[in-house]
Amino acid sequence: MDVAVVGAGPTGLVSVVGLARRGHRVALVDNDRGPAPDGQWARRGVMQFHHPHAFRGQAVDVLRAEVPEAVDALLALGAEPITGADASGGAGGGELPAGAGLRCRRMVVERELRRVAEREPGVRRVRTRADVVRRDGGRAVGVGARDRSLDADLVVVATGRGGRLADGLRAPEESSDCGLSYVSRQYRLRAGAEQGPITSPIGAVAEHDGYVAIVFVHDAGVFSTLIARPSADRRLALLRHDAAYDAAVRAIPLLAAWTDPDRAEPLTPVLPGGRLHNTYRGQLDDAGRLPLPGLVFLGDSVCTTNPTAGRGVSTSLMQVERFLALLDEHGDDHVATGLALDAWCAERIRPWFLDHVANDAAQVARWEGRDGADLDPAGTPTSDLVVRAIAVDPSLMCIVGPYLTMRALPGSLTAAHPRVREIYASGWRPSYAEGPTRDELAALVAGSLAEVPATALA
Ligand SMILES: Cc1cc2nc3c(=O)[nH]c(=O)nc-3n(C[C@H](O)[C@H](O)[C@H](O)COP(=O)(O)OP(=O)(O)OC[C@H]3O[C@@H](n4cnc5c(N)ncnc54)[C@H](O)[C@@H]3O)c2cc1C
Repeated sequence: MDVAVVGAGPTGLVSVVGLARRGHRVALVDNDRGPAPDGQWARRGVMQFHHPHAFRGQAVDVLRAEVPEAVDALLALGAEPITGADASGGAGGGELPAGAGLRCRRMVVERELRRVAEREPGVRRVRTRADVVRRDGGRAVGVGARDRSLDADLVVVATGRGGRLADGLRAPEESSDCGLSYVSRQYRLRAGAEQGPITSPIGAVAEHDGYVAIVFVHDAGVFSTLIARPSADRRLALLRHDAAYDAAVRAIPLLAAWTDPDRAEPLTPVLPGGRLHNTYRGQLDDAGRLPLPGLVFLGDSVCTTNPTAGRGVSTSLMQVERFLALLDEHGDDHVATGLALDAWCAERIRPWFLDHVANDAAQVARWEGRDGADLDPAGTPTSDLVVRAIAVDPSLMCIVGPYLTMRALPGSLTAAHPRVREIYASGWRPSYAEGPTRDELAALVAGSLAEVPATALA
């Protein structure tokens, strides 16, 4: 059949290759110009493009199934496997065991996916912005843009978190503010320099009193530092200035170790991020009906979650895999495909959204120091507190491990709740990493910019 896929992010790119390899004729619609000849890529409109990403095993499993040559190319370019078997996370030797994730820049991953999609027979790229999903006889029949109109038997909307195409057709999204904002920067290790401390499969994580510092290891000696700060604290918005960010990085021990000038040099300016939301939106309209058979929403246009957990590409590509299987099963019965996809997303994707809604609300309350925000011992512990209780009782790992690797849904943590309640009822609380508190960080940021004219900080 003829399929129009709107949006050439990870969701759209993997979809078009998967569709073409199943014998469909595919048009990939996106206005982005693609990477420059030197490989750099501004990618306006995808705010997170240069922010740190890590790719979980679920995402990589789908890539291996649908675009295996892209995975081979990424390993050859220096992407590192994440096995999760130990804190270093690396399998080494360029091998990729089943279920392993990847440490790699998002730009590098997307460049390889795009390369495969562009060469794929049966895929044609259409450089435009789709304005409307065309309909006839109560079903989708293509997409319309300012400069052209495309016919299609099936329209896939993979327009990401900011996409507005066919917005009015579905029931409104469920949404909650993550309460945090990203400010990050990429660095490259100097020739011969060793990596800094590794404490987690993605690199290293330090939970501080009022913010989180993370190091993401990428490909070929590149890594990112990230300060995830409370969005409500405007003082820390000034971290977007290089001088302030540098001062903060020097003061946070984990980031200072990684960015020591003898070890690494900055590759980018400081990258500020926008506000982040957990969102979920199924395929159906307000009345619970499929609004337009032949129209399917995939990827971030269905679900977005707090990016510090690195689930977005996985939940997106899991949807793609499910959609492709349903299309194989139901052929041109688009009602059956749409309804089955919606039911599957409600069962397998929405629980991750709900998990983040609860976690983020609890984290914001803790960051704001609200009374009783640390934990009600009789209440339901949020997943992050369950995870942190492993520090007291490592045997919880047999319940928590499958959740951490997304092999089990968040509901599986219920089995740990009685023990976790006991732990917190004893008065134990997770400790914070060594380094400045949020107020100390804010003071440091202000101090670092004291000499900068106010007009330059606007
Ligand atoms: C700060 C941040 C950090 C993240 N870190 C991680 C991480 O570590 N690990 C992880 O797995 N996930 C992470 N994510 C999530 C991940 O980035 C998304 O899940 C992923 O981008 C979803 O891909 P997508 O293809 O659905 O959407 P996008 O990547 O947003 O792509 C959408 C595409 O659609 C195009 N488009 C939009 N509207 C139209 C239109 N009308 N016509 C034509 N084209 C259109 C856009 O130009 C874009 O190319 C992070 C997200 C954020 C915000």
